[in-house]
Amino acid sequence: MSKRFVIALIKHETNTFSPIATPLSAFGHGNGPAYGEDAKAAFAGSNTPFAAFLDIARREGAEAVTPVAAESWPSNSASRETFEALLAPLEAAVRAGCDACFLDLHGAMVVEGCDDAEGEILKRLRRIRADLPIAVCFDYHTNLSPDSVANATVITGYKTYPHVDMYEAGLRAGDILARALRGQIRPAMAWGWLPLLSSIMRHAPEDGPSGEILGYARNMENSGRVLAATLLPGFAHADTPYTGVSAVVVADAAAGAQAAAQAVCERMLAIAWERRAEYVFHPEPLEQSVARARVLGASRQNGPVVLIDHCDNCGSGGAQDVMLVVEEILRQKLDDVAIAPIRDPGAVAQMVAAGIGTNVTLKLGGKTDMPSIGLAGRPLELAGRVRNITDGEIVFTGPMYTGLKSHLGRTAVLDTGQAQIVVTERHHEPFDLVIFRHCGIEPTKKRYLMLKSRIHYRAGFKPIAAHIVECAGAGVTNADLSVYDYRKLVRPIYPLDPI
Ligand SMILES: [Zn+2]
Repeated sequence: MSKRFVIALIKHETNTFSPIATPLSAFGHGNGPAYGEDAKAAFAGSNTPFAAFLDIARREGAEAVTPVAAESWPSNSASRETFEALLAPLEAAVRAGCDACFLDLHGAMVVEGCDDAEGEILKRLRRIRADLPIAVCFDYHTNLSPDSVANATVITGYKTYPHVDMYEAGLRAGDILARALRGQIRPAMAWGWLPLLSSIMRHAPEDGPSGEILGYARNMENSGRVLAATLLPGFAHADTPYTGVSAVVVADAAAGAQAAAQAVCERMLAIAWERRAEYVFHPEPLEQSVARARVLGASRQNGPVVLIDHCDNCGSGGAQDVMLVVEEILRQKLDDVAIAPIRDPGAVAQMVAAGIGTNVTLKLGGKTDMPSIGLAGRPLELAGRVRNITDGEIVFTGPMYTGLKSHLGRTAVLDTGQAQIVVTERHHEPFDLVIFRHCGIEPTKKRYLMLKSRIHYRAGFKPIAAHIVECAGAGVTNADLSVYDYRKLVRPIYPLDPI
């Protein structure tokens, strides 16, 4: 009889300061969760761990059971009811009997009444079957918990930011478990955690200590000393007792490599701690950064100057409607600018009603109050022409999420003369050029681009950018961690406390 593998995806990066709710319909990249064969169809062949697990099942001649695939873009905690609705099909599939479980999880999911959703998922599956072999692939922004480690057989995570190695990281977790199922190895894990609140703006390998740690982890894997070595720099916008930097290493206990796993894990964390000051981001004042961008773009470039509005990134729970950076760009008279995306369903409705080619005056963005950081929404009044309207159905062709579909909702382009602004009904972080191209804007031809993103934009936009300028606006992804009222963090924690 062939083996039966349960493969599932439940993924949410929860920003506990976010003003954005997370209903069940938010999962499935905006179209609700996919179940059964629909889950397979949605993810097969994509650059995701889920697709890697499907390929492993095929290779091992196992039946792939896919009860649920559900990923929401980041926002605040989902309700208990939503969480149970996501978990129920997975529990039912495991209860029906299987040889192993392969999970594509985020690692920083918080739900109503539970600061550690992944730990809860894994505990619940092990409650159904205590010795269930489970492989987990986590996002880079995981706040690793003791329950997650105690209730998984193998844990890996991404080694890139932007995350362009999702498939590869899933393949590594799945391969290790498949070899264990064949009796070839006996995986054992070592892990550790640091009281270190690292800024996402310093997480990219080229920017901070992560590059050195990831290089070391790769060397240890390639040398065969360990099976998998994973750095998890954490997600500072989730206020939980697990928030911090961690590492988890898998080695073959059958070959006596447990001590090696411990040593590799300790070395990875030692580098992070020694270089912890480099995980702190020091923002430049907004007026100064926009002025600097204006000068950079004044002479013709090979490609646009890209301004990054990083404090309001919906890819980490931002409202995506704070207008501060747009306002400063217009005030300093930057010209030939394309901006993406502002989320404002009301403004989209107004532009759709007016029609393409019509002149309109809008109160754009600023519809969301953010009481957690004391910020009130403030729209920006703009006059312009409706240049384009689309259904917002896009397919990623760049290096991130390659092949996956996403749904912006109805999308309209407001052309103010100075700037063409892509306005969407749904949240979406711009990491693929399709965000402009699908509505008729050629980003490589613009003098300036403004993106509501932090690091993931680099996947699609770094190759076309002449210069990149980080602009500190406002919002719930502010890199200045002193704006957040943390209540659940383990204290003391660096850099909030002097340790
Ligand atoms: Zn991430």
